[in-house]
Amino acid sequence: PVVVTRGDEVGAMLSNLEALRGKLRRELVTYQTALEHTRGADARKASFLNAVSHELRTPLNAVGGFAQLLLEGHDGQLSEPQVEDVELIRDGGRQLLELINDILDMSMIESGELRLSFASTDIAELVRGVVKIHQPLVDEKRVQLQAEIGPNLPPVVCDARRLRQILTNLVSNAIKFTADDGIVDIRVRNDDRLGAVITVGDTGIGIHKDDQELVFQRFYRTDTAQSMAIPGTGLGLSIVAGIVDAHGGTIAVDSTPGEGTTFTVSLPVVA
Ligand code: ATP
Ligand code: MG
Repeated sequence: PVVVTRGDEVGAMLSNLEALRGKLRRELVTYQTALEHTRGADARKASFLNAVSHELRTPLNAVGGFAQLLLEGHDGQLSEPQVEDVELIRDGGRQLLELINDILDMSMIESGELRLSFASTDIAELVRGVVKIHQPLVDEKRVQLQAEIGPNLPPVVCDARRLRQILTNLVSNAIKFTADDGIVDIRVRNDDRLGAVITVGDTGIGIHKDDQELVFQRFYRTDTAQSMAIPGTGLGLSIVAGIVDAHGGTIAVDSTPGEGTTFTVSLPVVA
């Protein structure tokens, strides 16, 4: 602390400043204590969710596994209606598992506990894998899924599993929000300034300008998506944004309602 001895205006100003400094210091301590509390609460929430999701995952995996065994006829041939019922059980279990994984990821992102394992990754290869996995889904919908991979792509240092999760989320959204006979395309190129740039475009229902910022918030779903009864929880994009952010990258959306949407992800290329 500064001891003010002058009695003039400068002295008054100095003692004011000194009082302000004291107040700021006290507020900083309050703020830091509150921050530590919040961090502690976040960490406890994350470990609670971790434990609960583990407890839920084990029986759900069993449900899925046994449903599959029944479908494969290991316990005797099922009738047509039985097959349909067991398929519903299996798919319901799968959806619950995905939801649990999403909630867990979201909680890790929020508490800053998302651990990434960085490694040099061949993005072209990764994109081809994502296309392959989604092929049955697009065939069913008669949507065309195409990938265009640019030349001279340097390997990107990223968490490959998480990057796959980003692309899977964006591509499954694109397919989901695009009607039959639409097109979904993934493009990858190298940009000297932005790094690896990946775009996922579709010819689907689009996102209104007012909604474009909001879709990255957790649990946000557009009115259009809801009125068309397209299923979803509204977690996918918030997780995508969290993972992109953890990589030091950026994500943007560009869309015209009724015409289509393009999401652009840029990841820095670390030499
Ligand atoms: P979840 O991913 O949790 O299963 P979801 O797909 O509804 O559910 P997000 O992926 O977070 O949730 O997307 C949020 C919302 O953004 C969607 O509900 C939809 O309204 C809108 N949206 C996302 N992608 C597209 C797209 N390609 N075209 C049109 N709307 C989209
Ligand atoms: Mg989604």
